[in-house]
Amino acid sequence: MLNCECQNYCWHNLDYYKTGGMFTEHHPRCEKFKPLEETKNHILALIKGIEEWAGEEDGIPDFLWEEYKSALRLVDNKKWIVVIKKEQEENKND
Ligand SMILES: [Zn+2]
Repeated sequence: MLNCECQNYCWHNLDYYKTGGMFTEHHPRCEKFKPLEETKNHILALIKGIEEWAGEEDGIPDFLWEEYKSALRLVDNKKWIVVIKKEQEENKND
């Protein structure tokens, strides 16, 4: 349950979709309405889950590699650069 004034809003209005509401749980009038930040946090949580799963297995699987890098580039540029450099070094050694 949302702990903000969104509990009281009706969600079936067009403003919700026009203002980025597809990427947030909060109504545009809510003080917690920050669609980009909320989207970033969802992607970060997904990356964290993938990394934890990969840590228990044999690393990030090939079929997820491009998507993983793409998500990192969007939300964690520093880590993305580290991953890209490591990938380039590994390709040199092949
Ligand atoms: Zn809210």
